[in-house]
Amino acid sequence: MNEKDAREELARVCKLMYDRGLTFASGGNVSVRLDDGNVLITPSGKNKGLLRGEEMVKVGMDGEAIGPGRPSVEVHMHLEFYRRRPDVGAIVHSHPPYCTALAIAGERLMGGLTPEGAILLGEVPLSSYGTPGTKRLVDSVAEYAQNNALLMEKHGALAAGEDLMAAFNRMEEMEFHAQLQHILKEKAVEFDDAEIERIRGG
Ligand code: 13P
Ligand code: ZN
Repeated sequence: MNEKDAREELARVCKLMYDRGLTFASGGNVSVRLDDGNVLITPSGKNKGLLRGEEMVKVGMDGEAIGPGRPSVEVHMHLEFYRRRPDVGAIVHSHPPYCTALAIAGERLMGGLTPEGAILLGEVPLSSYGTPGTKRLVDSVAEYAQNNALLMEKHGALAAGEDLMAAFNRMEEMEFHAQLQHILKEKAVEFDDAEIERIRGG
């Protein structure tokens, strides 16, 4: 994606995330891979509902800012994910309430409650806790970088996709599933592997 379009799209997705109640205050961070091999990421400590395209921070794969702005404290978590997943073009990290409640309780998110969930989510692992902005957090998330959707213990959720909308949709689907799980309680039952394969057209 070229930088000009990426800045606008990133701002749109941040506003959508905030308006949909998928993140609060300055929580969460979003990034997109640029055509030139660098990454564009949200600035640190800003409310995601009010961000403008020009505020997004361009960083190299070493995490150093290229130009103005201070990148998200989770910049290395995003970069490590991109390094391990050449097919991933965008990453959304946020603190949606139902997902975060599961992550605090250390409970698994059931990704296969509906056909849409079976397609977009599948198995959703829970990475172990690491203090925000630390290597421990980067390492615990990197362990599950082969997944497109995961919960982060006592913290929130992460969704990856080929582009920003795919990553955003996956995050929205995760929160929808966490809500269903909460409503259904012990009645929550996921599709079995054979049906998941049929749903996915396999
Ligand atoms: P940033 O504002 O630095 O991106 O931090 C928010 C967050 O969610 C940390 O995990
Ligand atoms: Zn966070």
